Amino acid sequence: MTRRDRPHTRTRTRTHRIRDPLVKSVLKMDDALFKQRRRIIEMLYDAKKVLGIDLPRVQIRIVEMANGEVSGISFVGKNSIVISHEIADWTEQELLRTVWHELGHAWFNASHDESCPLMSAYRPPGGVPRAKLVPALRRIAAEAGGVQ
Ligand SMILES: [Zn+2]
Repeated sequence: MTRRDRPHTRTRTRTHRIRDPLVKSVLKMDDALFKQRRRIIEMLYDAKKVLGIDLPRVQIRIVEMANGEVSGISFVGKNSIVISHEIADWTEQELLRTVWHELGHAWFNASHDESCPLMSAYRPPGGVPRAKLVPALRRIAAEAGGVQ
């Protein structure tokens, strides 16, 4: 089998770059980053469970942001979220708010809403309790009429 014929496997490293001025670099996965990725995946499962609807798989990339103020980026319609590696220092409550916020953009095309605990552009220090995020996520999903 020549190199050209070799099929791409799931273990093939994803090398496509993120062309976004907010992203400095996509970090190579190591044990520490896999642990962080696992935290994010658990929060995706949690969101799906809360909503009780089938939602598309979301690709997660952990990056170094060019701007330290930015904790997450999502690409609307692409089911992809980008999260800062700085989450390693965050509590579950802080991370949950950022992950669900990005899902709000990615899954439901939600806009920023400063009156919403989940979709405000301003990231509240310390995050937001899950009990406040659950109704916000449900409302966003309901307003969107499901997945965008
Ligand atoms: Zn946002």
